[in-house]
Amino acid sequence: MGKFDTYPFAYIRKSIVPIEQAQIPIATNALHYGAGIFGGIKAYETDAGVQIFRLADHMERMRQSCKILRFPYDFNIESTQKIILKLAAKNNLKGTTYIRPLVYRSDTNLSPGIEGDYDLSVYMIQMPEYFQAEKGLSVCVSSWQRNADGALPPRTKATGGYLNSSLAIHDAVTSGFDSAILLDSDGNVGEGAVMNLFMVKNGQLITPASDSDILEGITRRTVQLIAKDIGIPVIERTISRTELYTADEIFFCGTAVEISWCQSVDNVEISSKKGDITTKIHKAFDGLSLSHPELFTKI
Ligand code: PMP
Repeated sequence: MGKFDTYPFAYIRKSIVPIEQAQIPIATNALHYGAGIFGGIKAYETDAGVQIFRLADHMERMRQSCKILRFPYDFNIESTQKIILKLAAKNNLKGTTYIRPLVYRSDTNLSPGIEGDYDLSVYMIQMPEYFQAEKGLSVCVSSWQRNADGALPPRTKATGGYLNSSLAIHDAVTSGFDSAILLDSDGNVGEGAVMNLFMVKNGQLITPASDSDILEGITRRTVQLIAKDIGIPVIERTISRTELYTADEIFFCGTAVEISWCQSVDNVEISSKKGDITTKIHKAFDGLSLSHPELFTKI
């Protein structure tokens, strides 16, 4: 992801301020120990104006992340949602926007413990597209393993956990790939570095289950909903690394990457063009504000 334009207002320490004033002290605990959890949410231009996609689901995942990591922060879904909507209105969102709420350990004690003060911050950037939409991705299987559930639970969006994604992306990109797939602690397919993975085989969609060291993606859930709508069966099961090479189609999904098709894995060609099922899912994804208006929140 490159550098995108930031909206002028942010939320920090319980107030909306100009983005330049949304600063933290050098000794902020979260900066040193990765004590934070975040959300990555998109707002889209729709026929009914700019709307936020699956806001309540993102709030619930943030609440769960705080709970799993034992943060002494009472994540309130309703009030956080209100803050995001208020900030979105203040920023007068235009076009596709990425919203980044963060709960972080804000005290300046130099100790890695969980106890401490926590704060919520939110800022917003314009995000026209993450990968070049029509180009198929060339990805590799990373030599880095996905964070294991018993080490740094991947079902949380813990800030510190993203060093795992960063290592995988760095090594993939410096070797000439667009991104990477990480294997889980059993050596089976987990997910993409910052995205979930679906494989198409014999007309079925297959994706690793929630016990495969994955973040349970909200876009993944959305793909399952779309597949049900259009009558494509979805199976959650273990995928071995080499089974990827036998797939008819592979695509990634995530809030930032949306639906991004994969042309090759480890330089083994999967498909030379975007496959039929990927195309159907992608089209339906783009039409969600009409087919599933209940998933959108007006600003
Ligand atoms: N896995 C990881 C590691 C991610 O960072 C993301 C992006 N949030 C996803 C999967 C996709 O999740 P979602 O669809 O909820 O954005």
